[in-house]
Amino acid sequence: MVSESKSPYLRAVLESIPAYKPGRKVVGPDGRSIKLSSNESPLGPLPSVREAIARASADLNRYPDPGAAELVTRLAGHLDVPEEHVALGAGSVGMLQQLLEAVGEPGAEVVYAWRSFEAYPLLAELSGVTSVRVPLRDEIHDLEALLAAITDDTRMVLVCNPNNPTGTAVRERELVDFLDRVPDHVLVVLDEAYREYVRDPEVPDGVTLYRDRPNVAVLRTFSKAYGLAAVRLGFLVGHPPVTDAVRKTLVPFAVNHLAQAAGIASLDAEAELLERVETTVKERERVRDALVASGWTVPPTEANFVWLRLAEDTLDFAAACAEAGVSVRPFDGEGARVTLGTPEENDVFLSVATAYAKRR
Ligand code: PMP
Repeated sequence: MVSESKSPYLRAVLESIPAYKPGRKVVGPDGRSIKLSSNESPLGPLPSVREAIARASADLNRYPDPGAAELVTRLAGHLDVPEEHVALGAGSVGMLQQLLEAVGEPGAEVVYAWRSFEAYPLLAELSGVTSVRVPLRDEIHDLEALLAAITDDTRMVLVCNPNNPTGTAVRERELVDFLDRVPDHVLVVLDEAYREYVRDPEVPDGVTLYRDRPNVAVLRTFSKAYGLAAVRLGFLVGHPPVTDAVRKTLVPFAVNHLAQAAGIASLDAEAELLERVETTVKERERVRDALVASGWTVPPTEANFVWLRLAEDTLDFAAACAEAGVSVRPFDGEGARVTLGTPEENDVFLSVATAYAKRR
């Protein structure tokens, strides 16, 4: 019998999720288009990495190594952790989904600070996990409040360090104290997508914290400092029950052959890549100083972006940037996140921001 209904049944939760809208490309009066909206590296992949990708393309008729054995071995050596403590995914956002699927049973809750990475609520909804959002305090994670939000239903806590979009980072003493008090049944995920940009020596490297804590896992990515956002490569460092779980929730072959080759080549070229990161860190200080000098309040940032709390001026500011050919990431009513680009790109942004501060 032919059904009368006009469309197939889909999960009701999808109605609450906005359809993906690609960002509009903005163009300045001189034809320039400066993308400071997605926290990417402003520079293309290194020649050696491009060569490795080109070489790997000869094998694209074959499925990739599902276990990505060579890259796992390299990463484990690089981080000085056992191989079984490393799991790979299609970007760290893919791994967040894998983690949520691994804990997502009816009634499960995930606790995270807000505002933080905008994918958290979306991925939680999709996995049927209830989001519990804990407001930032002075633009930084309120670890005491996060702890207080944990219930018997909590399965996961996300700590984005440094936090996207504020750039603020929690320090070792308070993070260790927090980890010591989180119940053992709750998985704590330290989302360290921007780890390579951290310069404050008091901000801990999650890989040193997870070792004697079976309920702690660290998420990292090749998308930012390594300049490989388009190949989709992220990894998790944790203990076997957790790494096994994310291996089981990975879509088969999702870590593709080009990504594996690019990851290995990037580890070979690490010194060169980290030199580029150093340039971004220097730009971060220059841009933040210039913003502060022109009257902006900018939280200290340990990432490759700055955060401007603009409240009701947010969209107007983003429009002013767009007119000059600069795209930023506005969060209506809250503020704008601006990725650090090349020095020339940052100068264009600074000229808009300085002028805006004068007339604000
Ligand atoms: N975590 C955070 C905090 C991020 O800001 C991002 C990227 N915007 C990601 C994870 C995801 O990065 P990717 O999926 O490209 O690894």
